Amino acid sequence: MHIKDLCTKCDHWTITTIIHDGETATFTCTHCKNEFDLPWDTNTRYLIRSIRHSLKKRTKKYPELLNLKHEGQGIKIQEKASDPTA
Ligand SMILES: [Zn+2]
Repeated sequence: MHIKDLCTKCDHWTITTIIHDGETATFTCTHCKNEFDLPWDTNTRYLIRSIRHSLKKRTKKYPELLNLKHEGQGIKIQEKASDPTA
């Protein structure tokens, strides 16, 4: 599966691929190829859901995230001043 996430290694918004074998989930940043593993458990599945959920909000705030469509792309977004209504 794919998620859009901010890679802590290259500091770009990228497509992250997640592959799991039922025990371990491997997250790979398609931009810098940084990889890390997490156990494929309830916490990890919850983490993926919450990343997906917060992305909707973020995409509203940062429409440039809509341009992120292909593996390998990396987008830098300027953090906007936090919206007090958010
Ligand atoms: Zn990266």
